[in-house]
Amino acid sequence: SDSLDVARIREDFPILQREFDGQQVVYLDNGATSQKPNQVIDAIADYYRNYNANVHRGIHQLSQEASIAYEEAHDTVAEFVGADGREEMIFTKNTTEAENLVAYAWGLNELGPGDEIVLTEMEHHASLVTWQQIGEKTGADVKYIPVTEDGYLDMDAAAEMITDDTEMVSVLHVSNTLGTVNPVSELADLAHDHDSYIFVDGAQSVPNRPVDVKDIDADFYAFSAHKMVGPTGVGGLYGKREILEAMEPFQYGGDMIKKVTFDEAKWNDLPWKFEAGTPVIAQGIGFAEAVEYLEDVGMDAIRRHEETLAEYALDRMAEFDDIEIYGPTDPTDRGGLVAFNLDGVHAHDLASIMNDHAVAIRAGDHCTQPLHDKLGVAASARASFYLYNTTDEIDELMDAIDSARQLFA
Ligand code: PMP
Repeated sequence: SDSLDVARIREDFPILQREFDGQQVVYLDNGATSQKPNQVIDAIADYYRNYNANVHRGIHQLSQEASIAYEEAHDTVAEFVGADGREEMIFTKNTTEAENLVAYAWGLNELGPGDEIVLTEMEHHASLVTWQQIGEKTGADVKYIPVTEDGYLDMDAAAEMITDDTEMVSVLHVSNTLGTVNPVSELADLAHDHDSYIFVDGAQSVPNRPVDVKDIDADFYAFSAHKMVGPTGVGGLYGKREILEAMEPFQYGGDMIKKVTFDEAKWNDLPWKFEAGTPVIAQGIGFAEAVEYLEDVGMDAIRRHEETLAEYALDRMAEFDDIEIYGPTDPTDRGGLVAFNLDGVHAHDLASIMNDHAVAIRAGDHCTQPLHDKLGVAASARASFYLYNTTDEIDELMDAIDSARQLFA
C-alpha cells in the first residue's frame, strides 16, 4: 500500500496511550529507542511462560523448542537484510558490541603501524571511540572523511583518503545527528578497490528503510533490535561468510566451541563461534518477531512515511528564523529525524519544556561529540520519527517549541 494505516499501527503499541499529567505522550525519541508492539512483548512472554530453556545442548523437549526458535530467529533476521542464511548473522548485544566484536576479533589481530582506518566526521561514538582505541593499541592511523557545510560526506576527499594503506572503512549508513543517508555502496566500492573491508553502522537505517547487505556489498553490517520495535539486549551483525570463517573468535567459553581438550579448542560453526555462553534467547526470539512485524507493515511504506514526516517537520521549522536545522535540507537525502537548535534556548531546557507538554525528544550530543564540535554547538535537540508518528504530533512539537520561545523571549 502507499501509505500506512497509522491509527491501526498505534493500537499495537500500548505505551503510546501513556499520559504525562493528563496529556497523551508524543513520542519523538525513536532514534534513541523505539516503542514495542504487543506482538513482540507477547512473543517474549510466551517464550518465558511456555518454552523457557537453555539452547543448543538440550535433549528435552523444552530445550528443543527454544533451540529451534532461537536458531530460526537468526534466519528471519538474516533474510530481512539480505544475508545468506544464519551463518552470516551473529546476534550481539547491540550495534556497539558489533563494532567491538569486529574491532577486537579482526582489528587487534590484523592491524599494525602503517595501516589506516577510515571513519567519517559524523560517526557515532560506537565506531569512533572503538576504532580510535584499536588505532592506539595497534599503531594504525585513524582518518576522518570530512562532512561538508550542508551535511554530506565529502566524497572527493573520501576517494583520496581511501588508499592501499586502508584496511578498514567504518561508516554509518544514516547519521543519527544529521539524518544524512550516506552513499555506502559507493564507499564499499572505494574500499574494495583498495582491498579494504567496510563496516556499515546500520543502527539508524535498518529500522527505517529496506536494506540489502549484498546490494551494498558491505563486509560487515550492524544494527540494534531496540531501535526497530524489538527488545533491548540484542543486535544483528552481518558478516560475509568467508571473512567470519577466517576471523578469530571475539569471546571464549561454552557454546562457541566444537571440541575442547586440556591443550586446545576447536571453534564451533558460524554463527555460534561468535556467540559465547548462554546467548540472548528471549531477546533473539523477540527480535525475529519485531522483524516480522516490520515486514508485515512493509519497509518501503515505512521509508515513505518517515520521509513524509521529515519533510513536514523541515517545512514547519523552516517557517522560523530562530530555528537552526542540521543536515541536508532535501528530505529525500535524510532518514526520519531532525536535529535542531532554537536561538537563545539550551537544547536541554528545550527538551525539558517539551516534556511539560508531554513531547518526548532527545537533547545532547547524540554520541557525536566531535561532530557537534565541528557544528560549533555543545548540544542539539533531536526529534526522531517512526511508523506510528503523525504530522499532528509534529504540530504538537512545533507548539511546544513555541511555548519555549515565549518563555525565553
Ligand atoms: N550507531 C548509530 C548511528 C546510532 O544511532 C546508535 C544509537 N544511538 C548506535 C550506533 C549505538 O547503538 P546501541 O546503543 O544500540 O549499541
